Amino acid sequence: ELYNKVLELKGNIKVFCRCRPLNAEELALGASMAIDFESAKDGELTVTSNGLSRKTFKFDAVFSPQSDQAEVFEVIAPFASSVLDGYNVCIFACGQTGTGKTFTMEGVEEARGVNFRILEEIFHIIKKQHKLFRYDVSVSVLEVYNEQIRDLLGSCSQPGVAAKRLEIRQVAEGQHHVPGLVEAQVNSISEAWEVLKTGSNARAVGSTNANEQSSRSHCIHCVMVKGENVLNGECTRSKLWLVDLAGSERVAKTEVQGERLKETQNINRSLSALGDVISALATKSPHIPFRNSKLTRLLQDSLGRDSKKLMFVQISPNENDLGETLCSLNFASRVR
Ligand code: ADP
Ligand code: MG
Repeated sequence: ELYNKVLELKGNIKVFCRCRPLNAEELALGASMAIDFESAKDGELTVTSNGLSRKTFKFDAVFSPQSDQAEVFEVIAPFASSVLDGYNVCIFACGQTGTGKTFTMEGVEEARGVNFRILEEIFHIIKKQHKLFRYDVSVSVLEVYNEQIRDLLGSCSQPGVAAKRLEIRQVAEGQHHVPGLVEAQVNSISEAWEVLKTGSNARAVGSTNANEQSSRSHCIHCVMVKGENVLNGECTRSKLWLVDLAGSERVAKTEVQGERLKETQNINRSLSALGDVISALATKSPHIPFRNSKLTRLLQDSLGRDSKKLMFVQISPNENDLGETLCSLNFASRVR
């Protein structure tokens, strides 16, 4: 029944909240939980401090620290068919660094995330329908860092060479294109995953401190699907965007200077631009402010009212992170 609720979505956004478990270090320090999951089944969570309820938030689903990757994927699985039916789909993960954005999207070898599972499901459906439909699938890997787009597949063939920088061009009304972006054709989940891994590895190349930078850039996997109905020749074209957004943490003003300040401003700019676009789409507003950041321009064709948009708001359960947690939850409530 959750499936049906999710499938009804069109021209709007579904927002899921996921909370990571307390980690070993936090447990050793005796950290307290600041989130109450009693009503998680109804999509609600309550922020508490000193054991007192402070604010309740409602989402399309709430995943507690006990929820595993398979359970999370249940709300995502129906969108594999949407992509093959010709819909553009965007799946985002946002939140403070260290709250599980990459865990939810990319996952780890022992616990695969959304990106692997949805691609696996897509190839599974393609195989089942091969007598009726022919599909071409290709993938790209990009990074948006400091308002610059980098092609992470374009640079892989030359280790040590910084990734290629790209621009967005409008080729027709409502049709944007990134000339020169490498699109690797893939025929199976294992092939697709190899390519995506190569892209992620290339991310580490051009940067001195990969971990630092990865929390400050948006990491994007794009899956392009061309479908043809074998019986009547009808064609569909669609894109699936899988976006691991930059960490949304605010930094104390006195701590940030120079390059770091520019990075922070660019992250805030793209996250608020994304929030503005999604809330403008939810109203009847004729003007959608796509042009305010590289991220929203890049995703423009897939953010419109006909596309399906899903966002994971990742949070920490630790009372020490309460400020950031409230910030993320408020952002998520704004876009919903
Ligand atoms: P982010 O990408 O938001 O910075 P990560 O995905 O890197 O955060 O997660 C930080 C750490 O917490 C990682 O070691 C990750 O494996 C772990 N983690 C995050 N979410 C979960 C979860 N739901 N269950 C178990 N471990 C998690
Ligand atoms: Mg990450």
